Amino acid sequence: MKKAINRGIPYLILALLIFAMAAGLDGYMSIKIMRIVDHALDGNMGLFKKEAIEGFILAGILLPLYLLTSITRGLYINRSLVKSKIYYIESLFKKNINEFQEENNAKYLSALTNDMNNVEQKYLVGIYETGASFISFLVSFIVMASVSPLVLFIGIGISALSALLTMILGKPLQRHERQRSDLFEGYTSYIKEVLGAFQIIKANNLNDKVKKDFFKKSKDIQYKGYIIDKISTYISALQQFIMMMSIFLIFMISVYMAIKGSITAGAVILIVNNMEGMFFPLMNLTDIFPKIISVKSLFEKMDHSLKNHDDYEETLDLDDFKHSIDFKNVSFSYDDNEVLQNIDISIKKGEKYLIVGPSGGGKSTLLKLLRKYFNPTKGEILIDGKNLRDVKKESYFKNISNVEQQVFLFEDTVRNNITLYKDYSDEEINLAIERAGLSDFVKGLPNGLDTMIYDNGKNISGGERSRIAIARGLLANAKIIFLDEAFASLDSKVAQEIEKTLLSLEGVTVVNVSHVIFKETKDKYNKVFIVKNKAVV
Ligand code: ADP
Ligand code: MG
Repeated sequence: MKKAINRGIPYLILALLIFAMAAGLDGYMSIKIMRIVDHALDGNMGLFKKEAIEGFILAGILLPLYLLTSITRGLYINRSLVKSKIYYIESLFKKNINEFQEENNAKYLSALTNDMNNVEQKYLVGIYETGASFISFLVSFIVMASVSPLVLFIGIGISALSALLTMILGKPLQRHERQRSDLFEGYTSYIKEVLGAFQIIKANNLNDKVKKDFFKKSKDIQYKGYIIDKISTYISALQQFIMMMSIFLIFMISVYMAIKGSITAGAVILIVNNMEGMFFPLMNLTDIFPKIISVKSLFEKMDHSLKNHDDYEETLDLDDFKHSIDFKNVSFSYDDNEVLQNIDISIKKGEKYLIVGPSGGGKSTLLKLLRKYFNPTKGEILIDGKNLRDVKKESYFKNISNVEQQVFLFEDTVRNNITLYKDYSDEEINLAIERAGLSDFVKGLPNGLDTMIYDNGKNISGGERSRIAIARGLLANAKIIFLDEAFASLDSKVAQEIEKTLLSLEGVTVVNVSHVIFKETKDKYNKVFIVKNKAVV
């Protein structure tokens, strides 16, 4: 994560260079003001005029420089953030399917919203501010040193002391900020869950419960926010007081020195001007550092959720599926819960398999092993004699196609939903449509294949969705189609028709997991496996 963000460093350097130019001119401006005041008090009209005109010109240069400063700052933050978001998405899609599913989706959602926000506000802004504060401090330091080294050291002393005080005062705030960030994460997960369960909530009259939960969660966050606001108000009042006192103190000291004749009246103004330039950066840094450090744990958290923990190296390519997939004494457990034990089955190319069994018996798990979402805990699965564990995922996935109960549709044309954005000729597409039994559906569409699908295909029936998924697999030349309860939500007539379509696909291997069996189609399968009591018979 950090590496990705660091790609924005060139922009940071540019932004800080521009800032340094502006700050340098700013410092020079304060010297000009000192001279203008001193010449005026000396009654030297000529020099006063000269300095005043130069001062105006300087101010004129400063305006575009200030603009440029904020533009380059924005550029740096923008670019760095975009780079890290792209990195996050790229890494996310490198995750293994099983490991992706192990985590709650809300984690990724929260990373891309809350956490990225924090990265921007605390880390990117923080780094820039650190650089900028350092530059400001340096400029004020040099400017003050040029007038009176003594005042400079007194100034540093006072600034450092008040910055330290401010830092101590800010401690409790950090703790509350951390707690608020955790609350936000819970809040995001909750919202996601509630929106996902919209239908269940409506249908079961759970509105009141949701309202109560939502109220509690929002209240907690709001309350935390209130506490933070309250503390920050106290703290900032105290900080203001400390700052005022510091500036007043240094003002008194420099006025005293002016009376004694060791500095001029203009120098008093210069010192007061630059006192802020020293005080603010110091205070800023004490505020920024803890924030930058707090993001560190965020990076770790994000990196951890992006990592594939199984780093087994896959070495084999699978160009084609020719003969069979064979389970050799395969067992599989989720942690301690053994779901399948000593399975020996064989799936032959082009044949059709029905997998049935009681709910919770392990049908989906068996399919996940076949899909290579998981590897066996014991034993091995061989595909054409190669250990499936060693076959590269991408290479295997090219050969298989999955049909789920929920078929996802993109908001795009029917064509793109079938081709999944790959190039195929019209002939190929039409053939796949015909084999998947979608011809009548496509003919009935107002713009045929170019009809748009909106809202995840609100008005496309479950049967048509399944057929679209099958067409996808056929078009991609999938050798094996895996179905997991794909017809569970369809009425039995539609389900049987799709089943017939599948059974008639020549050369394509079909493994259909279903808890409903139709007498009419059951006998057409080459084999029916029953998954029960950890065994397959
Ligand atoms: P089926 O598809 O036959 O209904 P599954 O294969 O989904 O059965 O589940 C078999 C058993 O494995 C069940 O007891 C289930 O609770 C457990 N199980 C399924 N998925 C997981 C998982 N991701 N983590 C832990 N246990 C799981
Ligand atoms: Mg299942």
